[in-house]
Amino acid sequence: MYNFPIEKEKEKEKEKSFFILTEKLEKLEAEINFLYDQMPFGSYSLAADGTFASVDSHVLSWLASTQEELIGKKKLGDFLTNNSQEKLRTESAIAARSEFSGIELDLLSKDGAIRHISLSTSGLRDAAGQLLSCRYIMFDMTPNKQAQEKLRIAATALESVAGICITDPDGVILQVNKTFTRLTGYTGQELRGKSVQLLSSQSVEQENYKLIFDAIRSNGHWQGEIHERRKDGHPFVGWLNIAAIKPAPGIVSYYVGFLYDITHSSAQEEIKRLAFYDSLTQLPNRLHLENRLIRVLAKLPQSGLRGALLFIDLDNFKTINDSKGHAAGDQLLIEIGERLRHSVRHEDTVARLGGDEFVVLVSDLNASEVEAARQAMAIGREILTSLAQPYQFLDCEFTCTASIGVCMFEGGESPKALLQNADMAMYQAKKGGRNSLCFFNEEMQIAVASYSKLEQELRCALREHQLEVYFEPQLNSEGKIIAAEALVRWRSPERGMILPNDFIKIAEDTGLIIGIGLFVLQTACDQIKAWEKDARTRDLQIAVNVSARQFLQVDFVSLLIDVITTSGINPARLKLELTESMMHDIEATSEKMESIKKLGVSFAMDDFGTGYSSLSSLTRLPLNQLKIDQSFVHNMLLKPSDAIVVQTIIGMAHSLNLEVIAEGVETQEQRNFLLLNGCALFQGYFFSGPLSICDFEALLFRQKSSHSS
Ligand code: C2E
Ligand code: CA
Ligand code: CA
Repeated sequence: MYNFPIEKEKEKEKEKSFFILTEKLEKLEAEINFLYDQMPFGSYSLAADGTFASVDSHVLSWLASTQEELIGKKKLGDFLTNNSQEKLRTESAIAARSEFSGIELDLLSKDGAIRHISLSTSGLRDAAGQLLSCRYIMFDMTPNKQAQEKLRIAATALESVAGICITDPDGVILQVNKTFTRLTGYTGQELRGKSVQLLSSQSVEQENYKLIFDAIRSNGHWQGEIHERRKDGHPFVGWLNIAAIKPAPGIVSYYVGFLYDITHSSAQEEIKRLAFYDSLTQLPNRLHLENRLIRVLAKLPQSGLRGALLFIDLDNFKTINDSKGHAAGDQLLIEIGERLRHSVRHEDTVARLGGDEFVVLVSDLNASEVEAARQAMAIGREILTSLAQPYQFLDCEFTCTASIGVCMFEGGESPKALLQNADMAMYQAKKGGRNSLCFFNEEMQIAVASYSKLEQELRCALREHQLEVYFEPQLNSEGKIIAAEALVRWRSPERGMILPNDFIKIAEDTGLIIGIGLFVLQTACDQIKAWEKDARTRDLQIAVNVSARQFLQVDFVSLLIDVITTSGINPARLKLELTESMMHDIEATSEKMESIKKLGVSFAMDDFGTGYSSLSSLTRLPLNQLKIDQSFVHNMLLKPSDAIVVQTIIGMAHSLNLEVIAEGVETQEQRNFLLLNGCALFQGYFFSGPLSICDFEALLFRQKSSHSS
């Protein structure tokens, strides 16, 4: 009596857990059924007479029948093709007690379609091994079969035409076809598992392979001509088309390469033209541009130069195309292509990306970022001017302007990103009013703007006589002033006194140096003439700096003769300072120098030691003086290596029978060291910086009087 409630509780507890268990089992069953439905297999069982005893939903749908139609009425054989019926009979006869696995059969459905299945049996046995029941498992192989068939057809079709090579993401060869082995001369066995590098090992174009892989990595594909050798060393020209197989963005699973032998192909040129050129304008297409860009980006870092992409989009092409018709539109695009080609140098690339978008790729701009940008801007402006000229065809006159986006590069960037940046800059240019140019980078835009402002001002300075010449004394070992270096100064009304380092470069880039150089030369000659009258100054020599650009002018010698004759000076009083940078063409330079030397003018090699002149080239030039660069003078007492350079230059000058002068001498110790080592000519702040002519003469006369007193 007392225990009764507890018993009841237990009973309740039991009931509850039974209930939970049933619920769990039901859930599990539902889950299994769900999973089962997702599987690509179905199952059925047979009665003793071979008719279906039970059939699941998969098999029902494959046989396109209902349970009622099948159970106890039909056998599997009723749904098989004749061949498959035969196959099933023999296979199950061989297999002991109807147990078999993976027989491939063809099901014939009601509508005549064939389904490929794989049939297996699975028996349930008791402990004694007695078969209790048997289930049949059916796999639908139709999709696999179809894919296999497609592959087989594709492979046969391609086998005769192209060599195919499939590699893993690291370039390890997984599979090649017969044509590929025939083309390369290697067997499949020799190639499988090896890196594709094997094929390029004999290649003269090792570097090319790197470029190709860079292209695939960034673009996902590459095609072009390759010059290869077969295993036996025979050369052949191939057309290679490589694509990356990407199952998901950014993931490469395979590379597939198609190789065509075009060694003797008359279609070679045609293939190239179609693949790389735009059919309307005959300009390089996007693919060609990308290939070129990849090459340029890889090579640029070695040269230290810079490049630019100019993305050009026409401002009103659509209006013309819509209003005047497509024929006019096409004609306009052809004409634009022509003008672009004429606006740039032969070595630059003009490409048409499609529609009214063009890109100009310029690759050997100045090493300095700002100067390169300025050069790119000059090219862009020239393009804008050229494109804005009226077009005449189909008895009409059109005008069409363009917007240009510029993106600068120095090598190593991603080609895709550069094109995108230039494109973005182009949109910026469109926003800011058409017929204009915009840089991708705002700082660059500002720098370029200030650079071109300076250029304008310098142009004006030359016209409005804002330039002056200062003179820096050159002294001998006794401290006597024997010469002066003419150094230009720009007294700007807005900016004050500007030193040459802030404008000579711009002057050189823009060609203004020609005018500036002539002005300094004239001023120096006028000064020599003026000094002739005074015994205290008539022996002074003036050294004039000559820029490479100035010296390389074809009429430099005749201009010099003009100035010398009009001023009527003794040419021996004039010295020209050249730099090692103009010694590239030693033949032409020495010839020009010889003809100047004949006039009686002498030469100094400025900034000596900073360039790369070889001793042999030095001996071939009619030089009179080496000028030790001030950087060595500055450091020679601090750095033993610079002291050695100074001593070497002095020794060199002596053995070549040349004068040697040290510039940038700032201390007594530097002067003493130089003198001790055999250099007896100096200039520098220790004696005096560059002076206006008044101050120079004042210093000179003060010195003269102290010397004579
Ligand atoms: P440079 O030919 O090497 O001229 C020497 C420069 O060193 C001058 O600078 C001078 O003022 C400076 N200098 C002189 N003594 C000392 C010194 O003791 N210590 C230091 N630290 N510097 C000293 P500047 O006048 O500013 O000229 C700079 C450069 O501009 C010149 O270098 C030359 O390459 C160029 N330049 C000047 N005038 C002309 C010209 O008329 N034509 C051309 N083409 N270039 C010129
Ligand atoms: Ca100089
Ligand atoms: Ca110098």
